[in-house]
Amino acid sequence: MFAQKKKVKEKKSRAVANSVAQKKNYASQHFKFAEKEQVSLIPLGSNLILKKPQLTVQRAIGWDGSLEVRNKYRPDKNPTNITSSIYKEQYNAITNIPGHLVNIVEDPNTTKGEGSYTNNGAASIIRIHPLVGEANINNEDFNNNIATLAHELQHAIDDIGTSHIDAYGLNKDEVQRANIIRIEWRAWAIQAAVNYQSLGDGSVDDLKINSHQKKMLNSFLNPDQMNLRADEFFRKTREYINGKVMIGNNAKLTEEQTQEWINAKGKEWLEESKLIFKTKTGR
Ligand SMILES: [Zn+2]
Repeated sequence: MFAQKKKVKEKKSRAVANSVAQKKNYASQHFKFAEKEQVSLIPLGSNLILKKPQLTVQRAIGWDGSLEVRNKYRPDKNPTNITSSIYKEQYNAITNIPGHLVNIVEDPNTTKGEGSYTNNGAASIIRIHPLVGEANINNEDFNNNIATLAHELQHAIDDIGTSHIDAYGLNKDEVQRANIIRIEWRAWAIQAAVNYQSLGDGSVDDLKINSHQKKMLNSFLNPDQMNLRADEFFRKTREYINGKVMIGNNAKLTEEQTQEWINAKGKEWLEESKLIFKTKTGR
């Protein structure tokens, strides 16, 4: 028992040291609150948390914080408000990973309809914009949040789960950073799959989600067009390659070069993301 405790301690301090060297940050603009909140949200000294995986949903600041509100995104606590079984699968996948704490925080500093996933080596935080209104499919904010959460949960699964796709970090080279695209494509596939489920018998145009999410759903519904310039999947991919993969002294990719990149380097990953969408939706 004692030996085990010691091991946990050592592992933890190494993780903290690592986090200084290479802090993973999937959306750095949302990092403002991190230092302060991590102290209160994640009691790092607690053995209970290190022994047992947990996933908690908490209000960041300023909201009424009733139990019902807090549990909006927790299918285990409040199943009637969650329509997407794909979201539930994502949630369950992350709670089944032992030894790592993942917090979901509604953060007012997060842009509406967007989210972020960060891992400081000891624990992870997923941030989404606070939900206003009812937790049901008639509420655009709710639909956006559920799809975004499923997306960020996929980042958590790929970061700390068995897939272990490593791409982020200051010491990564361009080849390693290319994995960023694979990670995003996997998350976009999940996000689109959740939106597809919300669709039911309706049309994409009528679905209450933001325009980016609509376009991305259309990309996965028309997979032959994903590598075309007008496509949202293509547009976002180019943005990510140029913004996060080709950093430093590298030249930015033109649209033609982006197509070449996808056809060569990204071919396998593109098929993977299409397959994820197909498998999740049964479409
Ligand atoms: Zn992402």
